[in-house]
Amino acid sequence: MSDSGTRVAIAKAAALLAPCRRLLLLAGAGLSADAGVPTFRGEGGVWNEYRAEDLASADGFARDPETVWDWYRERRLHIAGCEPHAGQRAVALLQQHFPAARVQIATTNEDDLLERAGVRDVVHIHGSLFTTRCTACPWSDDDHVDNALSLMPCPCCGAAVRPGSVWFGEALPRSALDHLHDFAPDGCLVIGSSCLVQPAAGIPIDIQEHGYPVVEINPEATPLSPVVSCSIRGLARDLLPPLTDLLTSSIVRDQARRQA
Ligand SMILES: [Zn+2]
Repeated sequence: MSDSGTRVAIAKAAALLAPCRRLLLLAGAGLSADAGVPTFRGEGGVWNEYRAEDLASADGFARDPETVWDWYRERRLHIAGCEPHAGQRAVALLQQHFPAARVQIATTNEDDLLERAGVRDVVHIHGSLFTTRCTACPWSDDDHVDNALSLMPCPCCGAAVRPGSVWFGEALPRSALDHLHDFAPDGCLVIGSSCLVQPAAGIPIDIQEHGYPVVEINPEATPLSPVVSCSIRGLARDLLPPLTDLLTSSIVRDQARRQA
């Protein structure tokens, strides 16, 4: 996409999304990768000899809990050293300043960069990297500071604790999906997601089928590209700031009001 082509696409996306009253932002691995968070299968180093399915599954954890915990502690440490980028900060600005509308963010990413950028009420569809929970009872807690909770048995029942992520073969938390369903979005911006996994993948399709706008930002074409209202090629950290500028500008706001 040329510079002028990108500018035209951003303006089109802003015109489509400006009238929305309940805008859903759905963020995938690309949003975090722009901040230096490795994608799941691109870890590199010592972890290359492991299969992701062995490090992030109940079976793998049952076989070798210490190795799984070592991997999680390393990821927690790595993410603690990453900083939110301009695109993630733009999401926070959009949530605060998008006029007369609510902006809900849902992500398949497990890191906390959106929260650190100032985004509120992030729905982590695949769980949070910094949550530690019990393998036997409903206990879970934020283990953000020093991984201390990962080193001891469950304080409620004494069973072993595990990372709070949703692993391969596990169902997504019902509460996250119910929250998104109750939000009833009338527009969707899909960011940095080359291939969402079901059931998250069905969310933008469903919104589109209800006649609402769906805009996609991604460096490459995705399975979603042919069906969305507008697809912009590029990095989230480069494209979200100008899109947010337009969506929060009084000119775009007034145009949307006249169209409504
Ligand atoms: Zn317990």
